[in-house]
Amino acid sequence: MASNPRQSAARARVRQARRYAAANAECALCNGARGPIDYSAPRDHMHPLSLVIDEIAPVARWREFGYESRRACACDPANWQPAHWICNALASDKRGRRKGPRGRDEASGTF
Ligand SMILES: [Zn+2]
Repeated sequence: MASNPRQSAARARVRQARRYAAANAECALCNGARGPIDYSAPRDHMHPLSLVIDEIAPVARWREFGYESRRACACDPANWQPAHWICNALASDKRGRRKGPRGRDEASGTF
């Protein structure tokens, strides 16, 4: 039975989040312009400076980035970076507008 790739990566993500917190890593999207990541805050829209693990290569576009599968893309710690909740939300919004007419991600090659 195929499991959700994000779910199987969940434990690794928890470990990675602890590493980011221990290193007090700054947001990779604004490079700290919005201030330090609030590692103690709950991760939701009420706490825009809380941590999210951002995927550098969007999982939906795994083929473009040379991964063997969605799972390989979702589970690769090298594909993760620490980000503010708000920075990730704004970036996802931009990515969302790149979707094709049928709502699917299209390989535009203009990155
Ligand atoms: Zn940020």
